[in-house]
Formats: sequence, structure tokens, C-alpha cells
Amino acid sequence: MRCPSCGSDYCHIIEETESKIKGYGIFKGCCGYLILGPIGWLCGLCGMGEGRTTRKAYWVCNHCGKKFRV
Ligand SMILES: [Zn+2]
Repeated sequence: MRCPSCGSDYCHIIEETESKIKGYGIFKGCCGYLILGPIGWLCGLCGMGEGRTTRKAYWVCNHCGKKFRV
């Protein structure tokens, strides 16, 4: 792989993990609060940890440090 910035062959591939964390489920939390009280809020919090993790591969130039997609 050749660097598009400086044309160097000194490139290596890296993998980055990107995670998108969903916010607090406010609607879920409100419903839970009405039905269950404070415990319902905790149910809303449970949905908070859910998130998607996407993996992306990049090439990194050892010469100039430029990062570029495959
Ligand atoms: Zn380069």
C-alpha cells in the first residue's frame, strides 16, 4: 500500500474500534417510574449501556503519519 500523501511504501494497517453509546432511555425511564417508582428509573438506565461497536481498518503511513481508509 502506498501513502496517498507522500507516496511512501512504509504503511501498516491498524484496526480501530468505534463505539456509539446510546443515551439514557428517558421515555423508558419515565414509564418505569410511573409504574415501579425509583426502581423504574433503574430499568431506564439499563438501556444506557447498549451500544454498537464498529470496527474500522485504517492504513497508517510510517513516514508522514497520514491515516487513510483502505
Ligand atoms: Zn505518508
